[in-house]
Amino acid sequence: MSTNKTIAILGAGESGVGAAVLAKKQDYDVFVSDKGYIADKYKTQLIDHGIDWEEGAHTLEKILNADEVVKSPGIPEKVELVQLLLEQSTPVISEIEFASRYTNATIIGITGSNGKTTTTSLTYHILKKAGLNVGVAGNIGDSFALQVATQDYDYYVLELSSFQLDGVKEFRADIAVLLNVTPDHLDRYEYKFSNYLNSKFQITNNQTQDNYFIYCNDDEAITGKLKDLNLPMKQLPFSIKETVEEGAFLDKEKLLINIKNESFNMSIHDLALNGKHNLYNSMASGIAARILDLRKDVVRESLSDFQNVEHRLEHVGFINGVEFINDSKATNVNAVWFALESMTKPVIWIAGGVDKGNDYEELMPLIKDKVKALVCLGTDNSKLHAAFDGVIDTYDASSAMEAVKMSYKLAAKGESVLLSPACASFDLFEDYEQRGFRFKEAVREL
Ligand code: ADP
Repeated sequence: MSTNKTIAILGAGESGVGAAVLAKKQDYDVFVSDKGYIADKYKTQLIDHGIDWEEGAHTLEKILNADEVVKSPGIPEKVELVQLLLEQSTPVISEIEFASRYTNATIIGITGSNGKTTTTSLTYHILKKAGLNVGVAGNIGDSFALQVATQDYDYYVLELSSFQLDGVKEFRADIAVLLNVTPDHLDRYEYKFSNYLNSKFQITNNQTQDNYFIYCNDDEAITGKLKDLNLPMKQLPFSIKETVEEGAFLDKEKLLINIKNESFNMSIHDLALNGKHNLYNSMASGIAARILDLRKDVVRESLSDFQNVEHRLEHVGFINGVEFINDSKATNVNAVWFALESMTKPVIWIAGGVDKGNDYEELMPLIKDKVKALVCLGTDNSKLHAAFDGVIDTYDASSAMEAVKMSYKLAAKGESVLLSPACASFDLFEDYEQRGFRFKEAVREL
């Protein structure tokens, strides 16, 4: 019988299979179990690496006897199997925790309710352009574990969701970024915002005085919590409302970053990404780059030539003077707030989908000021109607094509049609990407 340590991996998606490949490389006896069906791509990977797996059920005996369990972020802690493991004190960790054991790379971990993918991609872009040997992982591309198993990077930029952070123990980010914390995913946190906030703050776990914490100084949830904690690492705030001693802020139309007695500045008009939210994202990435002492001209150039990620305030095109914008990734109210805030022309707003307990009140001033009509795109639009009927004109559509045609009719030349749904997509679409693609297809067919 083998004397190797045994590891069970729950969930055979990108992170689970990555963890399995890494565990195998590290000589664990690995067993992968997925209650659903495993995509062919991942089955092939498991078979190629000679990893034992099952689908459609969990064989309890094998899982409960493992020395350690890696749980995929999509599986809630409250499920019975995870509870059983915790009761018998089996360590249940995330793929991020597992992978971090086997790399000495410098880690830049990025979290927040919104802006993670944008800021992670932007930071990666700067580091890459500066010539560093850097990988990007987390929710982007190949899993962190797979890259640790197969690559040899000196730096990793990691996009970390709260679900991924929930399974960390020893993980430590050399540079941690917390962009913002606004209500989202509360169903996984007993509907308590404080639980969700605590989850996000795990990005600072294990940091020492040699590490850095970059955070938004304009976010009261973050600053409020920081006051209660006595954290040892160097803290670098960013703000578009006030100046900060060390960190990033605005001086009229200039973005300034002051770190280590050095000052960096660039015009906000040269930034590739538009909108206040992206100003924050650019500041966070810029600070991370300056901590690493990357050359100012490289940082400036990278912040100005970055190409935004698809489905985030993505300009689709003009049809007869009407601009179409795809912000399908705006799956919560806060993201929509920033989208509307950045609009300079009257808007036909397409929203809806699966409501996550949204409170639309904070959007009202922007709606009254900028939105001409709302086209609801979902199977149940009752919450949107309850909030906006009588405030603006509201309409219903049951497909992206119908919504686009309707919006185009409603829009006059010089106005914009904005898909920024504030909701999840799985009533009518597979995911937010499919929703964005359908929207773009419909625009092209007009
Ligand atoms: P995440 O990975 O956290 O979901 P994304 O970068 O994919 O974030 O952006 C998701 C949505 O949030 C998009 O609609 C985008 O325009 C918006 N957004 C991006 N950055 C921010 C921010 N700093 N604050 C609020 N909304 C943002």
